[in-house]
Amino acid sequence: MIAKCLDKSWSAHFARAGLAFRKPTVRFYDEPEQRVCGVRWPSGASAFYCTERGTLVFLLTGDWIEGRTDLYPLKVAAHEYAHHVQSLTGIRRHYEARIRADHARQAELGRRYELQADCLSGVFIGSVWGSLSRSQDDWAAVVEATRATGDDDDRRSHGTGGNRAYWLKRGFTAVSPAACDTWRAAPSRVS
Ligand SMILES: [Zn+2]
Repeated sequence: MIAKCLDKSWSAHFARAGLAFRKPTVRFYDEPEQRVCGVRWPSGASAFYCTERGTLVFLLTGDWIEGRTDLYPLKVAAHEYAHHVQSLTGIRRHYEARIRADHARQAELGRRYELQADCLSGVFIGSVWGSLSRSQDDWAAVVEATRATGDDDDRRSHGTGGNRAYWLKRGFTAVSPAACDTWRAAPSRVS
């Protein structure tokens, strides 16, 4: 299961950085429930991270996973796992404090947080790429599937398709979390 692979890869990153690591809890559901890990199931979400309980939740039905042979579900799992990494490293805590201090920038800060998770998912995929036996076309397909999940016009929560693809590729190429500092990136890179 991919969660084990994510545990292994990220615990090694943490060990190198001298940081304490803790695995997330992982839970799978055949259908959305009213409440899960202490929160209301986010409307329409197929995968998410419960910050309070350090729990990754995956829905095992829907277009995002059913009948797929591409690597997109791997990218989604890696993105949600990245939110766990953001919690462990204190990034989440800083993010929440900044939102409290500056409500007007809530959407922009949220996109920096989400795009960082895209970048960190790229770091993970890059770090295991050699063991996946996949082609460059397979990678290009993940980038394009990610680009297709960019924000539409009214909901500006995760970033444009172009920026989601940009940060995913940036992490993949660098294979280092240091490449994922979306917090200092120019506003156009987190639009
Ligand atoms: Zn996210």
